[in-house]
Amino acid sequence: MNIHEYQSKQILREFGVKVPNGNAAFSPEEAARVAKDLGTPVVVVKAQIHAGGRGKAGGVKIAHNIDEVKQFASGLLGKVLVTHQTGPEGKQVNRLLIEEGSNIEKEYYLGFVIDRKTAQIVMMGSEEGGMEIEKVAEETPEKIFKEYIDPVTGLMPFQTRRMAFRMNFKPEVMNKVTKFMDCLYKAFVAKDCSLAEINPLVVTKENDVIALDAKLNFDDSALFRHPEIEALRDESEEDPKERAAAKAALSYVNLGGDVACMVNGAGLAMATVDIIKYYGGEPANFLDVGGDSTVEKIAEAFRIMQSDDQVHSVFVNIFGGINKCDVIASGIVEAAKVVGLRVPVIARLDGTNVEAGRKILKEANVPGVYMAADMDDGAKRAVELAAAKKSELRIKA
Ligand code: GDP
Ligand code: MN
Repeated sequence: MNIHEYQSKQILREFGVKVPNGNAAFSPEEAARVAKDLGTPVVVVKAQIHAGGRGKAGGVKIAHNIDEVKQFASGLLGKVLVTHQTGPEGKQVNRLLIEEGSNIEKEYYLGFVIDRKTAQIVMMGSEEGGMEIEKVAEETPEKIFKEYIDPVTGLMPFQTRRMAFRMNFKPEVMNKVTKFMDCLYKAFVAKDCSLAEINPLVVTKENDVIALDAKLNFDDSALFRHPEIEALRDESEEDPKERAAAKAALSYVNLGGDVACMVNGAGLAMATVDIIKYYGGEPANFLDVGGDSTVEKIAEAFRIMQSDDQVHSVFVNIFGGINKCDVIASGIVEAAKVVGLRVPVIARLDGTNVEAGRKILKEANVPGVYMAADMDDGAKRAVELAAAKKSELRIKA
């Protein structure tokens, strides 16, 4: 789960990480009020969207008086910001962060992520921070330093010192920097983050060490331990299909292709994505309906999959274990009735109650629902039917 920059900064503040004073605003008037309360000569107006790259896209403005704050705020609110992280459709700005300006001397990068290979948290730092960090990572990766953190000892003082030296901070701020790293690490662990990224971390002309930007991502599987994080969710920033799936207890990830998949079990779901690729298709999603499917759940899965305009066929790939093929088959029939089938459906059913399942589908005889002989046959036909459906639509248009 992602949250906004101003929310991340509030959390970091609680852990002793220094961030600029500021507050969220939802209207130009509120922006002016926040700026007035700050009372600083320079105020930064920042678009709050769940994507980075705002600086380059015009989403960060420096104001020198209240009129400018108002002007920038009304210019940004409601605007669709297109950054290199939003995709071409962009994201609408509905909130702003109004904060005091900083006298930046130099911008650095500092981040914590979980490294899957070592199964450890890794701290990454570079003195080449700011808006070009992706370029640094690609062209001069040797300028990004790493410290792997043993979960038993936690982040050790020798590691924060080594990182601070490699990042080339001046001696006057060394202690502030190592403390900053410690506090950020504590926040990362306490809140079950999957990512904590400060870009830029700045040293100011007054020798303060500040998080000028802050991005926190949280491990969805640990959210049950953090109702205070769950409360920060901004549904307008999330994929409505993924939201609906989460509410129906379906494990769904949008993949952007045209062959939708409905599968039971994460392993089979991954194999299904692979086999669709193998036959030259593009999976539209990863969808694990779980082991305790009901007819209603299957119908809801169909509604979600078909709400994606890009989807041109649905491949149902079920190996009945705890799930029963007759329940899945009834779910498909029910979906056809209550949701309607906009695209062809290829069903491969095997395992528990497979005969009963096949019988239900045969007797219901729903137009556009085909039985596959096996997984291979099903994947191949799902890809073919998606391509056929696509060209049929193209001819109609
Ligand atoms: P991002 O582009 O979405 O990552 O947004 P950031 O929060 O990182 O802001 C982009 C850039 O705006 C930073 O790298 C800074 O150069 C600049 N910026 C942000 N806040 C301030 C500020 O208080 N003063 C000045 N002078 N520049 C700022
Ligand atoms: Mn940034």
